[in-house]
This record gives sequence, C-alpha cells and structure tokens, in this order.
Amino acid sequence: MTDTSCTANPVEDPSLTAAAARDRILAEVSPIIGHEFLPLRAALGRILAADIIAPHDVPAHDNSAMDGYAIRCGSLAAEGETPLTVVGSAFAGNAFSGQVGNGQAVRIMTGAVLPAGADAVVVQEVTRREATVVFIPAGQQPDQNIRRAGEDLARGSVALAAGKRIGPAELGLIASLGIAEVDVKRRLRVAFFSTGDELTSIGKPLGPGQIYDSNRYTLHGLLHQLGAEVIDMGVVPDQPAALEATLAEAALLADAIITTGGVSVGEADFIKETLARLGQVNFWKLNIKPGRPMAFGKIGKAWLFGLPGNPVAVMVSYTQFALDALHRLSGLDPIPERPLLTVEAANFIKKQAGRREYLRGTVAAVNGRWQVKTTVNQGSGVLRSMSEANCFIVLPEECAGVPAGENVQVQLFEGLI
Ligand code: AMP
Ligand code: MG
Repeated sequence: MTDTSCTANPVEDPSLTAAAARDRILAEVSPIIGHEFLPLRAALGRILAADIIAPHDVPAHDNSAMDGYAIRCGSLAAEGETPLTVVGSAFAGNAFSGQVGNGQAVRIMTGAVLPAGADAVVVQEVTRREATVVFIPAGQQPDQNIRRAGEDLARGSVALAAGKRIGPAELGLIASLGIAEVDVKRRLRVAFFSTGDELTSIGKPLGPGQIYDSNRYTLHGLLHQLGAEVIDMGVVPDQPAALEATLAEAALLADAIITTGGVSVGEADFIKETLARLGQVNFWKLNIKPGRPMAFGKIGKAWLFGLPGNPVAVMVSYTQFALDALHRLSGLDPIPERPLLTVEAANFIKKQAGRREYLRGTVAAVNGRWQVKTTVNQGSGVLRSMSEANCFIVLPEECAGVPAGENVQVQLFEGLI
C-alpha cells in the first residue's frame, strides 16, 4: 500500500495485523477430500476435483476463421490480381472433399474444415467474383485466417486443472471436449449461528431491549454465494450449556462453523471456557476496525470462525479472514487474488493511525475519473452502509486521515459479497 498518500509514523500495536491473521488461518486449513460426479450443467459453480484432460484436439481440424476463399499462396502472382477457378464450396459441418490445386480456389465459410492443398483463406471482402472465377489480390500469406487443429487445446493436455471453479466459460469449454459428466468437490458444509440474549428471530414480536437477528441472514447470503451447503442453527442464548450443545452438534454436521457475537472482551470469558473444553480455539484482538475481536480454531473436525456481533464487523471479518479459508477448504486452487484498486478520495476521510480500517465507500466515475466517497454513517452496526456501498476503502495501519483528492485503495464488493 505504498502508493497511497496515507502517511504518519507507524504506531505500535500489540494486537495481530490483518495480514498475519489471514496467513495464520490459511496456513492451517486444507481442502476437503470428498467429491462426486455430476452432469455438466449441474456442475456450474462447483470446483473441479480432478484435472480435465482434452480427449481430442480443439478445434479438431484445421478450419477457416473467416468467410472467403481457401487457396494456395503459391498460385498467386507477385503483383496484381490472380484469377483462380472456384472448384467447390466448404461449409461448417459439410467439408469439401477434393483438393485445392494450383490455380484453384474453394469457397469457404467460417468454421468449415480447410480443404486439402489449401494453405490460406482470403476474406471475401478483398476478392472479386465473376461466374466461376475469383480474383485474388497479391500479398496473401500462408496460414492467414486459419485456425489450426489443437490451437485452443491439444489432445492429452490439461484443459482445466483441479481446483478450478466451473463458471460459464468452463461449462462451454468442457462441452467443447464432449465431456458430459464432471468430477467435482462435494459442497463445503458450513454451520452457523448467532449468539446473544438480545436476539429475536424474524417472525416473532420484539420484547423490550430485543433486536432482530440479522447476522444469520447476512451469513446465509454470503455462504450461498460461496456455493456452500448452509446449516442454519438459529440463535443461541448467552448460556454456556446452550452454546456447548450447539457447538458440539455443529461440529458433527459441518466442515466449518461460523458464530457471531460473544467474542468481545466483555463476553469472551464464558465462551472461552466453553470453547476450551470442546476444542482448540485462539482468541485474537485484531489490529483492524471494525471487527477487532475474532476467534479461530477447531472444534472436533470442524474449523471455527468466531466473528464479532456487529453486523458490519461480521461482513468485514468474513470477507477478510473467513472467505479465503472457506475457499481453500472447498478445494478452490489457487485462491483468487483480491485486487486493491487505487482511486481518488472524493472527500476527507477521518482516521487515527494505528489500525487498518475498512470503511464503506461508493466508487463512481466523476468527470471521467474514478473517485470513492465514504457512505454517510460508518458505525459498525449500520448495515445500511454495506448496502449503500460498493467497496471497502482499505486504509493501512499507519494512515492518519486522507485529504480529499488523495489516493486510497479500495476493494470492490463485486465478487466479494
Ligand atoms: P457482541 O459481539 O455479542 O458483543 O455484539 C456486538 C453488537 O452486535 C451488539 O450491539 C449486539 O446486539 C449486536 N449483534 C450481535 N449479534 C447480532 C445479530 N445476530 N444480529 C444483529 N445484531 C447483533
Ligand atoms: Mg453478544
């Protein structure tokens, strides 16, 4: 982040940096083993469990990239037009069976197999036709407008490597190989629940001091987008016995467990004791805002991500720490890079040096230049700021405020949430 203009003396903070936390998590997790065979269409969004090997060349034959005439370059005079006799036609799916000899041409359509003897295709726009004679200008080069067999994929080569997520391009590519069934990783199973005595589930009236549980809905959305099998375990009150029972059940059902709430300083104690009894979990104080407290570890065979309770902090810590770990667990390889783009701050951004901050912003083109504006309310409980924004403005630890007009780095929500 050296190209932003956020400058101030680095501030010492004993808590873990975002980069260190991410590295620690990624160093621990490894891909699930299970896989299944699916018909091609059903594999959309899934992750390949094995390489896809090309069973034949793609394209299978040398063919024309344009509509025009297949010729031999040796037939042409060095200058001016050369008249060639049109001896037949080649269509996609209906090849010309003869040879193209000297002084001959074959009318050819895009995708038609290149006739034997031809070494170039001349686009029809530069030619002139009189009855069975076509006039070809000089200067045609061997190989022009020809797609060679295997130029897309050679037979026996790895068309797609294990770990690739199957998107629209991959569906088409696999179909182009004639493959109807694919070996994909099973879906990752992720259980999640909210903790807090103040939480009420939607559909019930709110009691005094109660709020509706929103985190489970946000997580439902995030995990569905990830392609996981989601296991919603509801709201768990702030009671050790209830927490223990739910965690134990979740650990049996899922590869990963995501909890929200209960990891902040005031609440961590009983949760710490409970988690210590059930597994190995570290409690971190991250050098970030929002999303400072976080727990990470293992309960039985399931990885645990204990996220903070504040709704925006949930989305920050999920995207910055849990998402890539879930990607790796799912078998995705490589884990997608998350680009930070440099854009101009449209307004002054207040910040104290010390923590890395993830502000909510809106990137837009203003007079042809990309700028980012902070959303009005940056409170970590204000979920509306996530809905209004289209990016996180990521301000590094040492940044001590950004004047309007200076560069900052943003992480677009597109592809992230
Ligand atoms: P905690 O981390 O449990 O101390 O919670 C921090 C803040 O987030 C508190 O104001 C909670 O009421 C709020 N909060 C916790 N869990 C949820 C939830 N599932 N939905 C909405 N707000 C929550
Ligand atoms: Mg709580």
